[in-house]
Amino acid sequence: MKTAIYPGSFDPITLGHVDIIERISKMFDRVIVLVSESPQKSQLFTSQERKALIEKALPNLKNVEVDIHEGLTIDYLKTKNAKIIVRGLRAVVDFEYEMTMANINRKLDPTLETLLVFANPEYYFVSSRGVKEVARYGGSLEGLVPDCVKQPLIQKLKAGR
Ligand code: ADP
Repeated sequence: MKTAIYPGSFDPITLGHVDIIERISKMFDRVIVLVSESPQKSQLFTSQERKALIEKALPNLKNVEVDIHEGLTIDYLKTKNAKIIVRGLRAVVDFEYEMTMANINRKLDPTLETLLVFANPEYYFVSSRGVKEVARYGGSLEGLVPDCVKQPLIQKLKAGR
């Protein structure tokens, strides 16, 4: 069984992430969307909330699971006997970071591969950080995040004021 792990912050999940997940779910038997829990990064949503929003956004994908992990992604891969990490690539600015991470992970475990999937041109400008800015200033979230994310995002930002 071919398993792919798609790790990220997903704070919150956007339509760009959904597009990548839908596409890779057709390529692998099993996809695990891995919410990274990192105490060093300040996130708007807790990891449990991010996980719940991803699950709500993907009701029809039977071979996709969502999990939370703190620590190195490669350690999580070992627990699932998985060998493939998928990351999305938007603009050139993503490239250097993704190449560095892929090479660090390869150094730590030469048996795993990182697959980079190009963002859909419709979503290449969409980022979690960008949608938080749009929501903070009352802009339309249409076409940026799944419908189930809109209200929680607006509420969360209001609560934080
Ligand atoms: P991280 O904080 O680990 O970069 P993100 O949640 O921002 O996590 O993104 C997770 C992965 O999804 C990354 O590989 C990122 O490049 C990719 N990604 C983010 N936004 C998009 C998008 N709009 N289209 C395609 N891939 C994306």
